[in-house]
Amino acid sequence: MTLGHIHSMESMGLVDGPGIRTVIFFQGCALRCKFCHNPDTWDFSCGELTKPEELVKKICRFKPYFKNGGGVTFSGGEPLMQPDFLFEVLKLCKAEGIHTCIDTAGYGMGNYDEILSYTDLVLLDIKHINPTNYQEITGQSIDRFNQFLKALNKHQTPIWIRHVVIPGITDHPIHIKQLKDYINNISNVQKVELLPYHLLGVNKYKTMKLSYPLSNIPAMDKDKTAKLQQKFFGGYDYV
Ligand code: SF4
Repeated sequence: MTLGHIHSMESMGLVDGPGIRTVIFFQGCALRCKFCHNPDTWDFSCGELTKPEELVKKICRFKPYFKNGGGVTFSGGEPLMQPDFLFEVLKLCKAEGIHTCIDTAGYGMGNYDEILSYTDLVLLDIKHINPTNYQEITGQSIDRFNQFLKALNKHQTPIWIRHVVIPGITDHPIHIKQLKDYINNISNVQKVELLPYHLLGVNKYKTMKLSYPLSNIPAMDKDKTAKLQQKFFGGYDYV
């Protein structure tokens, strides 16, 4: 029996995929993004231990809300770091006819072929496109992300891309243009969304007695982000 470590659950999510979604936040992440606003999800040993059937039973309670294209989104933390549990849960959700989505930074492990066979949509968070900057921002090598990208291309999984725009780090138009070129080489991208860097997670660092790596960087201007979005991606839809 594969048990999962679950951080929390949101019953009526509206921003993590199409329609109304139940969002399941997995515990555990191997990245240490400098702008992470969920450091409380990092530790793999925390969270509520759950059986796949138990979790899917909870998700099924919200099925009436999934009618207009909604479903379930597995987020985190990093759902791909609990691949066996994720696979079991995805399979059970598909057997229930539920639309499945993974919200991921693509830094996982396990059998991506199995996982993607039961995944309808991937919300892919691109931390950076340049290996050196990726390592600088996340603390890890970009290799595992590239492996996941390869699996996505193989499966032709529909993808919605997200990228956090950070003042002085990822907000330069040259960088956004390079991001666009990079995205043009990924199959099946349906949406691209630039997200302005915000400071909402900073208090969690204080509570957890961790130092905040970007303490000298202000929140990203929302209008500037919207302008970059419009200039390079012409809105969100990218088909
Ligand atoms: S991938 Fe997500 S949860 Fe993990 S460190 Fe980065 S922002 Fe935080």
